[in-house]
Amino acid sequence: MASITFKNIRKVYDNDVVAVKNFNLEIDEREFIVLVGPSGCGKTTLLRMVAGLEEISSGELYIGDRLVNNVAPKDRDIAMVFQNYALYPHMTVYDNMAFGLKVRKLDKKEIDERVRNAAKILGLEDLLKRKPRALSGGQRQRVAIGRAIVRNPKVFLMDEPLSNLDAKLRNEMRAELLKLHNRLQTTFIYVTHDQTEAMTLGDRIIIMNYGEVQQIGNPQEVYENPSNEFVATFIGTPKMNIFDGELIKEDNRYFLFFNQKKIELSEDINKKLIERDIKPQPIRFGIRPEHIDLTEELEDGFKISVEMSELMGHEMLIHTDIDDNPLVIKIPTRFDIKNGDRVGIAFRVDKIHLFDKE
Ligand code: ADP
Ligand code: MG
Repeated sequence: MASITFKNIRKVYDNDVVAVKNFNLEIDEREFIVLVGPSGCGKTTLLRMVAGLEEISSGELYIGDRLVNNVAPKDRDIAMVFQNYALYPHMTVYDNMAFGLKVRKLDKKEIDERVRNAAKILGLEDLLKRKPRALSGGQRQRVAIGRAIVRNPKVFLMDEPLSNLDAKLRNEMRAELLKLHNRLQTTFIYVTHDQTEAMTLGDRIIIMNYGEVQQIGNPQEVYENPSNEFVATFIGTPKMNIFDGELIKEDNRYFLFFNQKKIELSEDINKKLIERDIKPQPIRFGIRPEHIDLTEELEDGFKISVEMSELMGHEMLIHTDIDDNPLVIKIPTRFDIKNGDRVGIAFRVDKIHLFDKE
């Protein structure tokens, strides 16, 4: 196991694409870190730099205390698992897992022990003689992970390893990866574009966009206190509702003016705004679908028409719009709500998020 430190890491490709801008992060030994962000935000580039497969344009990368910018991939003690598994089709499961060790000239007995141990951890013991084409997607992915495990690496890098699996298998493998991490007690850096996967796997999540870190935090922190509108709408499903509003101030209290209504803001938000002496101004604000309630009390609420409702078991989504903006509400299921109904809604004021207007 090892810590990893990124200091002002930057990657510019030959075509002048800046894939990673000034990336800073310290990963603790044994941490399960998830890098998450939309396609093209630089996740794979970051992993490949850690693996030594991509040159670092500037900055310093440490594994433990060792500066590794110019250390060859094979000397980094790192294993990487890719999305497409990259198994050798003509080799058995056993040989796929043993191959890297044979190349390293480990003795036969040692190789055999390691392969059998990995097979046991991953439930592949009965499949060792099969070729990849005779395996399911989930089994192939296990072999790819097994190939990484046998190397006893200090760090595991995983680049969207579950994205070729169907939803059910993906859920199962997620749980298995957590168990594997517990068992191996090794640093994991896991890359995904899927925020649900990030939220369920990461001790800490690094949210990226356009080669830049948007926020670093544990799942609860990034859900409850997103640092900007990008993170707010990227994390959580269905995504946070966002509107334009007006921040106003009366008698040393702030209010949100929206859709002809003055919405009170929580003590907490008030305190922060007062501390920073924020001027009244046009503003963006957000409220998550699960933080809107149905209410009869319309003094603080709004009347909306149900355009479409979606049952999801014990919860339902109501789609509507307000002030010409789409609005989604998530509430405990009620069978008496029909399309076209007019209902009152209220925002939970302590769950309103304010964002700068760009
Ligand atoms: P992600 O894994 O988050 O989808 P990547 O790290 O693959 O993102 O890519 C980040 C950016 O760098 C993208 O704009 C991509 O087009 C560009 N890029 C990736 N690999 C190369 C390469 N070998 N040469 C030039 N540009 C690249
Ligand atoms: Mg990628």
